[in-house]
Amino acid sequence: MTFRTRFAPSPTGPLHLGHAYSALLAFDKARADNGAFLLRIEDIDTTRSRPEWEDRIYANLKWLGIAWDEPVMRQSDRLPNYMKALRALWDNGVLYPCTCTRRDIAEAASAPQEGAEPKIGPDGPVYPGTCRPATPPTGPMPKGVALRLDMARALAGRPVFGYLETGVNPGPKHVSAGHLISGVGDIVLSRKDFPGSYHLSVVLDDAAQDITHVVRGEDLADATQIHLLLQSLMDLPTPVYHHHRLIRDEAGKRLAKRDDARAIATYRDEGKTPQDIRRLVGL
Ligand code: GLU
Ligand code: ZN
Repeated sequence: MTFRTRFAPSPTGPLHLGHAYSALLAFDKARADNGAFLLRIEDIDTTRSRPEWEDRIYANLKWLGIAWDEPVMRQSDRLPNYMKALRALWDNGVLYPCTCTRRDIAEAASAPQEGAEPKIGPDGPVYPGTCRPATPPTGPMPKGVALRLDMARALAGRPVFGYLETGVNPGPKHVSAGHLISGVGDIVLSRKDFPGSYHLSVVLDDAAQDITHVVRGEDLADATQIHLLLQSLMDLPTPVYHHHRLIRDEAGKRLAKRDDARAIATYRDEGKTPQDIRRLVGL
């Protein structure tokens, strides 16, 4: 099996040291294994993605000495693929429309009769199930409304999922159906304003790019269980996952897109070299 990995930034701000670490680590691994390193622009957040940021991603990566082996994949070009997958899931009866606002969800989740604090999953508060129908909806897939995955229905009759983790906390991992139902819940797979979601597109795109090894930050480790379920639902292969440590600032805080001080471009403008960046992130 050829090693194929990718770097998948969102063009919503400057790439910082954390991105440099992720991209360099994936690139080095691909080169060490005689494999392929691919680039994917995750620009489905149309309100925050900007062509300027995309151009800077290319410039920053080139400056770091990173080259990608195949044409760049852009999520905004893949809407028909996402629609097709959504329709198949709709026809399988595992999606339902949801018209709740964030506020509705927060209120329902913290209603007094619920007792405990609202649970927070990888996607925010676990959906309290307000719009979940008792039986799968029929008829054509509705447009212009969020579609949620009926987690319990999606898991019914599915065996346990497992995957191999080679990064932080390595070893074989198992995904628990109980946790997916109570700790993750009915996640949004298609947004009101966009036929897709991070989880849906990342899984479809990793499969379309034949990714064998996903290298990404530890902050996405929790989302992996969702990705495994989606791979099972859509009959897609599960890659090996390598979740790496996060690069933090001196105070131990995670770097954010807003941290311009850690932007790769800032280091470059200060006269630092790509070798300096490698040293800074511990490579
Ligand atoms: N686009 C995501 C981000 O910028 C990364 C997705 C992934 O690597 O799975 O954090
Ligand atoms: Zn709802």
